Amino acid sequence: MKLIRFDGGRVGVVDAQRVFDITDIVREDPVAWPPTGICRVIRDFDSFRPAIADRIKGGAGVPLDSVRLETPVPWPNKLMAYPVNYHDHAKEMASKGLANVQGYFLKSNSSLAGPSDRVELPALAGREVHHECEIALVIGKEGRQIPPERAMEYVFGYACLLDMTVRGKEERVFRKSYDTFTPVGPWIVTADEVPDPADIGMKLWVNDELRQQANTRDLIVDIPQMVAVASSASTLYPGDLIATGTPAGVGPVRDGDVITIEVEHVGRMSIPVVQGTRGANVVFEKPYEFVRAS
Ligand code: MN
Repeated sequence: MKLIRFDGGRVGVVDAQRVFDITDIVREDPVAWPPTGICRVIRDFDSFRPAIADRIKGGAGVPLDSVRLETPVPWPNKLMAYPVNYHDHAKEMASKGLANVQGYFLKSNSSLAGPSDRVELPALAGREVHHECEIALVIGKEGRQIPPERAMEYVFGYACLLDMTVRGKEERVFRKSYDTFTPVGPWIVTADEVPDPADIGMKLWVNDELRQQANTRDLIVDIPQMVAVASSASTLYPGDLIATGTPAGVGPVRDGDVITIEVEHVGRMSIPVVQGTRGANVVFEKPYEFVRAS
């Protein structure tokens, strides 16, 4: 199933380009704050499946393009991310900080944005903001010290994710945590719709130019190991997000660009880039030149 949040915190599923509102079935209060309800919905999702299937069978629903899609999990317990996790990207960054020697890092939850939102570039003269094309794992079940051979039981689903990044040498969390720097969507595809997690293709375009292309078979740390490593340190909770790392081809975006990401078995979303006026600070006063190693 394709699980969405839309139109001010309502919960729905998408089937054949139509949206079925299931807010009542999952007993979500769209105006509850903080907006953590979807984490409980994810935890209990299997118990709602029969009623959801009935709702789809009952027809009705509204056209997908008549709703405003929102980020699927706006307030997770954790937004985790793996660094350099494809060998080709390690090469272009001349990086020794591979995912298998670094473990995970965090991005601010408040950097999350949705498929109908825009990426707002901070006003940082002398800095590039780069796109990173990634697949998001959505955790479905609480667990600690999860062995790799059981890891997939804890993966609820997948989504497209952009890990936007100010290039530089400063604290990675800070460079990646500007508001709107983590678009996720357009929905969560439940794990049962992805036949093989070790064979998921993804692509990213800026305007019409294909910039990034990869397949999860080329990951340095594969999906089960990512869950195992993260959960060795931290209890994973339903709704937690893991950004699984980006392949080669990262590069700058500018005002007016449109970033399109496509993940096989999941879907695609296009995110406009706009230049904002906020975001300058003393940390980023010094210019930084990104040089691609090759
Ligand atoms: Mn990344």
